[in-house]
Amino acid sequence: MKPLADSLRRLGTETAFETLARAKALEAQGKEIIHMEIGEPDFDTPNYIKQAAKDALDQSYTHYTPAAGIVPVRQTIADYVAETRAIPVEAENVVVVPGGKPIMFYTIMMLVNPGDEVIYPNPGFPIYESMINYVGGVAVPLPLREAREFSFDLDEFRSLVTPKTKLIIINTPSNPCGSVMSKADVEGVAEMALKHDCYVLSDEIYSRILYEGKHYSIAQVPGMQERTIILDGFSKTYAMTGWRLGYGVMNTDLAFWVTRLMTNSNSCTSAFTQMAGAAALKGDQSGVDEMVAEFRRRRDVLVEGLNQIPGIRCLKPRGAFYVFPNVTGLKRSTKEIADLLLHEAGVATLSGTAFGAYGEGYLRLSYATSLANVRKALERMRRVLTA
Ligand code: PLP
Repeated sequence: MKPLADSLRRLGTETAFETLARAKALEAQGKEIIHMEIGEPDFDTPNYIKQAAKDALDQSYTHYTPAAGIVPVRQTIADYVAETRAIPVEAENVVVVPGGKPIMFYTIMMLVNPGDEVIYPNPGFPIYESMINYVGGVAVPLPLREAREFSFDLDEFRSLVTPKTKLIIINTPSNPCGSVMSKADVEGVAEMALKHDCYVLSDEIYSRILYEGKHYSIAQVPGMQERTIILDGFSKTYAMTGWRLGYGVMNTDLAFWVTRLMTNSNSCTSAFTQMAGAAALKGDQSGVDEMVAEFRRRRDVLVEGLNQIPGIRCLKPRGAFYVFPNVTGLKRSTKEIADLLLHEAGVATLSGTAFGAYGEGYLRLSYATSLANVRKALERMRRVLTA
């Protein structure tokens, strides 16, 4: 048969799904695995959101919707983003898509020509690098440094911006590091984006999972809103990963093209899911606060426990639900350590390299699992790693 498209060779992946499959295969053989590899809340979607989906089905929200989403749903999202970011947003700025991820895909497809440079966080969500390479862009890693609590050096960032820089990707709070960008860093990025006429993709999917302070979006910096695409969604905040619901907020010219890409790929996002999303934003938000409080308890236990294992050093993250411990003291490659933990301790984790070259020397553990599991995982890790 004739060969597949050359571009496929440039496409990366998300190792979390592969590790999950390996962990499931071990479970099928009767092994008990503690899942700390996958980035999804272990909580159930709140009942009022499920009820809204059921009501929407009964009201026959079972057909195609406009490609950019149901207008009142876009309006509800616009009001929410306007309130949480203190910026003016209208329904026409919002494109509803199946999950947060498609906004990465569409933004990079829409903006990046072969040879255009894109600055992205490394370690960072692997799909940024994958998609930049896929479209033939030049992926320019912005290292996140442990010595700076996994933020970047602003001077180093400035040195990476060139006349070819088309897009800058930021992610705060960060997956995999759990770090939160300071206001000064956000403003530093904005200054360069304005000076060099760059777009910014601001991945704010964890903006509600914060342990201190208030989320500050780069779209709030004067002059930045028109060149920023905000990525957000429902997966993490409302434990709705399987519903596939997210959105982008952008200027109307960009919204036109993202909508065109939606028309060419998905046609639209599921109708009743959109209705449930609107209900999620309008309903009682106490479930989100309770979830964050529980994540905080687990984070504190996990960080303390990891720091007690010889050879491991772990910073306390300020957001999201991941820790990114330094394991260089264990004197083995991180892939080896992750394999050992999976097979010998029954704890599924990810090597930091799943998030880019700057992840070598680190592991990523998700604490979206019960406190009892966190404690058990710590015991097993200590046993295997100190044997
Ligand atoms: N952005 C970041 C940083 C993420 O970690 C994830 C999911 O893990 C996403 C976006 C995608 O979220 P969704 O499941 O809504 O597509």
